[in-house]
Amino acid sequence: MTTGDEALAAAGVDAYLACESRQQPNWPDGEALASAVAKLKQVPPLVFAGEADVLRGHLAAAGRGEAFVLQGGDCAEIFSEATADRIRNKIKTILQMAVVLTYGASTPIVKIGRMAGQYAKPRSSDLETRDGVTLPAYRGDIVNSSAFTEESRIPNPQRLVDAYHVSASTLNLIRAFTTGGFADLRRVHQWNRGFAANPAYAAYDQVAGEIDRAVRFMSAAGGDFEALKTVEFFSSHEALLLDYERALTRIDSRSGLPYDCSGHFLWVGERTRQMDGAHVAFMSKIHNPIGVKLGPASTAADAVALAERLNPNNIPGRLTFVARMGADKVRNVLPGLVEGVRDAGVFVTWLSDPMHGNTFTSESGYKTRHFDTILDEVKGFFDVHHDLGTVPGGIHVELTGDDVTEVMGGTAEIDDEGLAKRYETKVDPRLNHEQSLELAFLVSELLSQ
Ligand code: PEP
Ligand code: MN
Repeated sequence: MTTGDEALAAAGVDAYLACESRQQPNWPDGEALASAVAKLKQVPPLVFAGEADVLRGHLAAAGRGEAFVLQGGDCAEIFSEATADRIRNKIKTILQMAVVLTYGASTPIVKIGRMAGQYAKPRSSDLETRDGVTLPAYRGDIVNSSAFTEESRIPNPQRLVDAYHVSASTLNLIRAFTTGGFADLRRVHQWNRGFAANPAYAAYDQVAGEIDRAVRFMSAAGGDFEALKTVEFFSSHEALLLDYERALTRIDSRSGLPYDCSGHFLWVGERTRQMDGAHVAFMSKIHNPIGVKLGPASTAADAVALAERLNPNNIPGRLTFVARMGADKVRNVLPGLVEGVRDAGVFVTWLSDPMHGNTFTSESGYKTRHFDTILDEVKGFFDVHHDLGTVPGGIHVELTGDDVTEVMGGTAEIDDEGLAKRYETKVDPRLNHEQSLELAFLVSELLSQ
């Protein structure tokens, strides 16, 4: 891999500079920004292009129904929360979900964390007002701090460099946990048994018992458990801050092609997916597998145009569409998009993000979502694909491994009053550990039908 600006420029990665770039911070200090970007151009890549290629193959399989994607993690990672405990809890939760989903899908689960780089947030308003005081909005730890003071909200380019280092240490621990014995299938399965043994979750005990019998059968039949001691785990984030993404883009020495080495999978958000915008222009030049979020206002023509632009050679696994329609719209809006894409003959992998179309403010003032609505959107996503004979490729969810109270409902029946107990997110509400496992059991049931 080389960092040479010349080779990257020759590959056209800077064409995005001529396009309108939405949702970028107003960095107050151009010199500090230039110095941070220069540093980032020198640091080692966080991921290897070959790993991104492997993921592309897995995503292609998911698009054919031969694998199923579980993408999950925080809405916004926080530097101070990149601790061993929190990272472990998140990985543990995703691994537990993956085992349950494997059983329902009878296919491999492609595990992708919204982790090790999910630090930049698009905002619907540049400003935030609290108790009559108006300050610049929090744009994620890579830009400013969420503390509500004037000083904290000033964009600080040093944070770009900090984001790289925190991503590196997070990714290091992810690699340790997923290859060092922690992820052993039998261990993960025992955690699930513990969860389902709780009388409150008795509804899931049958499936946990079935998985137990399957594991014992494999063991008796001489299954290779050594190979199941490690798992593949990929990193992803929204490619929002173009200064950061461009600075971590490298030429792959094997192919001579540019890859954004800040993460394996990068996606463009609903707010920055304009065809003539800088984000689409940038993403069109990197060779990672990439995603685009599609909200309820998307049309089939938008989807097809994005596919032609972002995946002109129609490479399977290169492009994933993440539908975030809202439970009340998914059954009406998604069929047209899926049909349009199918009829155009373009290859995409479809994921459901059942979180972002279902956000509301509770009576007590918390930004929240309801567990039942989230599940309903996933069901709608499956129904649409079932009716059209197309493939539901996976889910994309906001979750944490901790016992927070941010999403209402679930078996624990978190209500409006309950939200106050442990509401920690700085941006969007996340499923907690138990809600995440419940969702996995319920989606597993949908997959096995
Ligand atoms: C997100 O994934 O946190 C996000 C901002 O999503 P969207 O672009 O779908 O609104
Ligand atoms: Mn979010």
